[in-house]
Amino acid sequence: MRLEKLLAHAGHGSRSEIKRIVKNGWVRLNDRPVKDGGIQVHPLQDRITVDGQLVHYREFIYLMLNKPQGVISATEDSRERTVLDLLDEAHAHFELFPVGRLDKDTEGLLVLTNDGKLAHNLLSPRKHVPKTYFAEVEGAVTEEDGEAFQAGVTLEDGYVAMPAKLTVLVAGDPAANRVSKIELTIMEGKFHQVKRMFEAVGKKVVFLKRISMGPLLLDERLSPGSYRELTETELAELQ
Ligand code: URA
Repeated sequence: MRLEKLLAHAGHGSRSEIKRIVKNGWVRLNDRPVKDGGIQVHPLQDRITVDGQLVHYREFIYLMLNKPQGVISATEDSRERTVLDLLDEAHAHFELFPVGRLDKDTEGLLVLTNDGKLAHNLLSPRKHVPKTYFAEVEGAVTEEDGEAFQAGVTLEDGYVAMPAKLTVLVAGDPAANRVSKIELTIMEGKFHQVKRMFEAVGKKVVFLKRISMGPLLLDERLSPGSYRELTETELAELQ
């Protein structure tokens, strides 16, 4: 791997900052100063220091993003802004990808990582990782809707959704123009699943936000569009 890339992965700054610290002679490779950031190094076998401090290489990175509305859960797109466009320079150097998808108009918890194994474990249909959503729904969501979801509601294409748990937080009232506020936990992740489940009971989701995925809860201190690294505890719980 190129020295510059390794330093970026280890959090030593943006591309231009790294070029500068290399040029200034602050980086040593096996106790010799290096001036060429493009040199190939071995992340685990070579001893690399910056200003005398040993560089700790990190292969994997894990971010919790509060996805805002208006960006898509993809790594690149010719027309739309993607979740990767929200990252600062220090994180943009990792080859990160979103773990699963949220619709363009859905907000909330999205993990970004370059760890394919963790992503696979979280997304595998066989693992049934629960995902909880907060939603605002037009009209009055009723107990019968909860029973239908618990029994497994049939979507418009004939697919029968797995049993899901509905909690009504605020009962809607069409006469008062008040939407229902609910939480729904689903064990799978079909395309537009929450919206389609409500359509199946004749209702329309007008706001959707993912608040948890398995043991991971969205950190409510993250405003839409901001992110942080997972803590060691969060990561241990996910693995
Ligand atoms: N269900 C949906 O309908 N949309 C999402 O973005 C996630 C779950």
